[in-house]
Amino acid sequence: MYNNNIEFIVTIRVWCASKVWNLIVRKSMELNFNGLNSIKPSHSSEMEFVKVIIIGSGPAGLAAALYTARADLNPVVLAGMELGGQVSLTHLVENYPGFPDGVGGSELVELFQKQAEKFGARIEFDSAIQVNLDQQPFEVVTYNKVYKAATIIIATGAAALNLNIPGEKEFTGKGVSYCGTCDGWFFKDKEVIVVGGGDCALEEGIFLTRYAKHVTIVHRRKTFRAGTLLQKRAKENPKISFLNNTILTEILGEDIVKEVKLKNVVTGEEWRQQIDGIFVFIGHAPNTKLFEGKLNLTKDNYIVTDSSMKTNVEGVFVAGEAADPIYRQVVTSVGMGAAAGMQAIHYLQEYALQDQVK
Ligand code: NAP
Repeated sequence: MYNNNIEFIVTIRVWCASKVWNLIVRKSMELNFNGLNSIKPSHSSEMEFVKVIIIGSGPAGLAAALYTARADLNPVVLAGMELGGQVSLTHLVENYPGFPDGVGGSELVELFQKQAEKFGARIEFDSAIQVNLDQQPFEVVTYNKVYKAATIIIATGAAALNLNIPGEKEFTGKGVSYCGTCDGWFFKDKEVIVVGGGDCALEEGIFLTRYAKHVTIVHRRKTFRAGTLLQKRAKENPKISFLNNTILTEILGEDIVKEVKLKNVVTGEEWRQQIDGIFVFIGHAPNTKLFEGKLNLTKDNYIVTDSSMKTNVEGVFVAGEAADPIYRQVVTSVGMGAAAGMQAIHYLQEYALQDQVK
């Protein structure tokens, strides 16, 4: 039944702890909703009880942390290995209100963090590796401990998509990149290709002209998804040229990328081009694998929710790109995070009051 002794010991401890939790919750219900606030998170190396756990530390997660922290719920934010998610890799955010001159992505994240921590949020550089949503308290297993949580806010965001062509995997980190802000510096005076026709591709393409000698934007269609302002800026940039109706079919090299095979999808023409770097920006997929079979997902694996940020499991909420295939902006993610935080607060209030009536 159990794969090893550790699993068995953890299971026994989780079982015992859940009995303790039931006692704590019952006690807190006797004391009314304010009583719930009297539950002090128990610190141990293996297990901790929390009122709110937020999985993900991007704009949605940190906004949810701010709201729940201000309600004295001492949220724990599982930040993963790096704080901030995708926005922290963005050189300049120009469309977040309140910053007329734009703000650096990582700087914005640090401000979010500082504000949430000021009110009692705790950031843990740890990742959820397993969740159990079958019963209260929910269980979130991380690399370091097992959290027992009265509510969960999922803000796991999305990750960059791959081209899935020969050579891509092999040369990732050796000329193939998914982040201009992170890797642009390595391509000083080099020839690079940017793949994609959305906002990310054009924004990152423009950014890469700071370093690269020349940037070729390769897009599989003639018309772009990117906003008109970005298109105008890219087209006016003397270091950028465009290859439309074109796809990459293979990446070639030795230790590092040297060449790429290209194909015009209209004429069928194929050719090779020497290149130093390839930056791929072809969209994102939600990071929701952890919730497969546990929550309702769309056919594209986004978590199903509505404007209340509820999932199909009571007490589990979602915010940001894990549930948003449409807007995917910092400002919309922040809004969703705030809404999820407020719903978690209401849920905890009702949860305590309802049971008090019984
Ligand atoms: P996106 O808007 O979905 O665009 C992805 C692009 O990649 C599309 O042009 C798509 O081509 C192309 N593509 C997809 N699969 C491909 C494949 N296998 N091979 C070649 N090309 C492929 O994704 P995004 O640019 O990452 O943007 C994501 C979201 O963030 C968007 O909502 C965007 O507005 C937002 N964003 C906003 C800003 C800003 O406001 N400043 C900045 C960055 C991102 P097709 O067009 O043919 O489908």
